[in-house]
Amino acid sequence: FHMTKINVVIVGYGGMGSYHGNTIIPAQNDKLTVTGAYDVLPERIEAAKEAGLETYESFEAVLADEKVEVVLIATPNDSHKDLAIAALRAGKHVVCEKPVTMKVQELDEILAVAKETGKTFMVHQNRRWDPDFLMVREMYQAKPIGDIFQIESRVQGANGIPGDWRHLKEHGGGMLLDWGVHLLDQLLWLVDSPIQSFNVDFSYVLGDPVDDGFFTYITFENGVRAIVEVGTSNYTKLPRWYVKGMEGTAKIDDWDCQGEMIRATNAENVSAPKAIQAGVGLTKTMAPPSEEAMESIPLPEGHADFVPFYENLYEVIREGKEPIVKNAEVRQVLALIDEMFAVAGR
Ligand code: NAD
Repeated sequence: FHMTKINVVIVGYGGMGSYHGNTIIPAQNDKLTVTGAYDVLPERIEAAKEAGLETYESFEAVLADEKVEVVLIATPNDSHKDLAIAALRAGKHVVCEKPVTMKVQELDEILAVAKETGKTFMVHQNRRWDPDFLMVREMYQAKPIGDIFQIESRVQGANGIPGDWRHLKEHGGGMLLDWGVHLLDQLLWLVDSPIQSFNVDFSYVLGDPVDDGFFTYITFENGVRAIVEVGTSNYTKLPRWYVKGMEGTAKIDDWDCQGEMIRATNAENVSAPKAIQAGVGLTKTMAPPSEEAMESIPLPEGHADFVPFYENLYEVIREGKEPIVKNAEVRQVLALIDEMFAVAGR
């Protein structure tokens, strides 16, 4: 039994649920099989049937099916807690989409049941595997531009908030709980030092009851500073990443990973930078460094030195290995988000 494939049923067969079934799980692993799906909407049940999946009359019917080992929750954020707790109590392992819940309190209720039942509960923080993030992670660890002391992480679009439930507070809408949870998960996992302080400012440009973006400045006890910014009314963008090290600077434009990394050569006999005309004034401070003072070096490759999410899930369930996405880390991000809403009075 122990080396058999793991049967997964997707609960919430919408945009992300169907992407898990059709793309992510088949691409990452042949030890997991998506056997079925359940959704509250008849048209999504139809879509699951068309994809060749077994469908269920109710969530209870999923839980009653003994061949199901993993319940994958990809429903709107306000339903994650109850679905996760019921699935764990029914003896299932659970994969839950991000944000795991809307409040830390809800997550703690899930984690208590996971502990009690001994079942695996893993949150799909898939952006730990994004190549652009892995490039920054390699920079941070291998130090080609020295110790990194400032990280700016941004995603900016001009299409507003998508969909329906993402506009509503009661469903856990808004950008901090959507993109924010990804960017903060990447940052806190990378820097791995306690947070010393933060400021946050939410934007409400679109007039939604939930935030359509935010700007946060975070300082860590190890000295690292970070800016994390999400915007949905940005008709032109800043780079995805801007990273400053003690010996250079790097920039990654977008998810296609184009960009540049410039390192100080610290060469001797470097000629002084020549003053340039800047606007209607003159500057040496802001003139480009002389050619001998800097060199362009290739950006890191951005390959993961750890296995894909679903391969890890298999190892955790079948071989008792450590999860890559640890619940304590997920909790830390959600606790920060709780505090961000609290200081803003939201
Ligand atoms: P969606 O609206 O496209 O799909 C949600 C589906 O859940 C719908 O089909 C809806 O009918 C169904 N549903 C609602 N309540 C249900 C219930 N109680 N039981 C069963 N089905 C129910 O939303 P989405 O964009 O797919 O987002 C779903 C989840 O996935 C959210 O938590 C979101 O944050 C997350 N997500 C994660 C990523 C990622 O990259 N990790 C990307 C997109 C969405």
